[in-house]
Amino acid sequence: MTTHKNTHNIKLELENARILSSRQLALLRKIASLSESLHIPAYLVGGFVRDYFLEKQVNDLDIVVEGDAIEFGESLVKKYGGKLTPHTKFRTAIWNLPSSFIIYPSSLDLITARNEIYKTPGALPTIKPSTIDDDLRRRDFTINAMAVRLDGDHFGELLDPLNGQDDLEKKLIRVLHSRSFIDDPTRIFRAVRYAVRYSFILHPSSFILVNPESFAVLKTLSGERIRHEFDLIFEEEKSVRMLAHLHELGVFDVFNPSLPKFNNKYSNLLDASAPAEFGFSANRITLGYLLWFMDSPADVVEFFSKRFDFTSELREAALAVAQLKNDLASLTDAKPSKWTMRLEKVPLISVYALWLASNQPALKDFLVNWRHVKTTITGDDLKARGIPTGPRYKEILFQLRSAWLDGDVKNDKEEEELLNTLL
Ligand code: ATP
Repeated sequence: MTTHKNTHNIKLELENARILSSRQLALLRKIASLSESLHIPAYLVGGFVRDYFLEKQVNDLDIVVEGDAIEFGESLVKKYGGKLTPHTKFRTAIWNLPSSFIIYPSSLDLITARNEIYKTPGALPTIKPSTIDDDLRRRDFTINAMAVRLDGDHFGELLDPLNGQDDLEKKLIRVLHSRSFIDDPTRIFRAVRYAVRYSFILHPSSFILVNPESFAVLKTLSGERIRHEFDLIFEEEKSVRMLAHLHELGVFDVFNPSLPKFNNKYSNLLDASAPAEFGFSANRITLGYLLWFMDSPADVVEFFSKRFDFTSELREAALAVAQLKNDLASLTDAKPSKWTMRLEKVPLISVYALWLASNQPALKDFLVNWRHVKTTITGDDLKARGIPTGPRYKEILFQLRSAWLDGDVKNDKEEEELLNTLL
């Protein structure tokens, strides 16, 4: 991290920032140049500034302008190309960068500096265009409330009205005012994400705000908003520790005391990527939920599927894995055909999750081999033999496939012989 102090302010030496690629820097210069010529101050905000000081990889670039972000975006497109996706309600826009920029991220968020008023706890805020100072004061934590000015001679100037730098150094997550978690209780999740991600702690004055009052508001949030927060947690490397932290804070009980803890036995399983021979890749977020609810009874899974607004696929996969886990003991000595019959009713990711958790070899056999086993004889062959079409076809083909799976048929000739005995 390099900073350069002068009498009035601190300037970040963006040119030498290791976390910025030369293409990203060139992009910032382009924005700075337009911002100067339009006399609309532009700032890099939020995560970028935090991650600059922490010397972490930059994931996204958020630009706040003291002016209209949509008009600013239109000028960017006019000058440099690309495409703008405006959101008129919030006066924000996404600038999808021209492909010639060959840059990551391929888009950036443009935000009109704004003031936010929470008329009702937990509801989305009312927004009014305002200054960068107000914009920083509407944010979640001091470490996320810093900005770097881009236009003209201001390039690199740090704005840190809430002393975020200090908290970064002290490894503290601190809200900006005492109603913060009441206005928006999703910030409790965010606090835990940052605390665990960076090994920071919640400042005691913020910690005491995670209390019955903010929990009462958290309880009223929609399933969709809560699930989004859990999704973000499962995208993180230390997701299991984040869940444990939320549990310790009492967040789980807010939703319902039956919300299970994440079983520590499964904590390493999220990081494994499926072996290539499995022929599919598991979505980390889905896998997270499956491991979380795997040991729960069906009615608990059903309850939280509704409460957290699971998609129908996620609900189905979570129910399937919990049921399959229950049936596992009764299947242990089953023949491959019986396993296959049972597992084919289950989403692949559920089979995979249970294999990770149980190491049951039949689950791997199913994923790698059994599910691909086909008969050589087809319905057309049965037709050619003059067998009248009907439910019998399914039965015959099922028996032939079972024989292949169980090793009772090893080649086409033996399959043919078996067919003859079945007719
Ligand atoms: P990361 O993506 O690494 O978790 P980020 O800072 O980029 O961190 P985003 O969720 O993209 O996080 O949000 C961008 C910025 O918007 C944050 O840094 C913060 O200043 C602000 N912000 C996001 N969510 C909230 C919220 N619920 N309340 C207040 N400010 C928020």
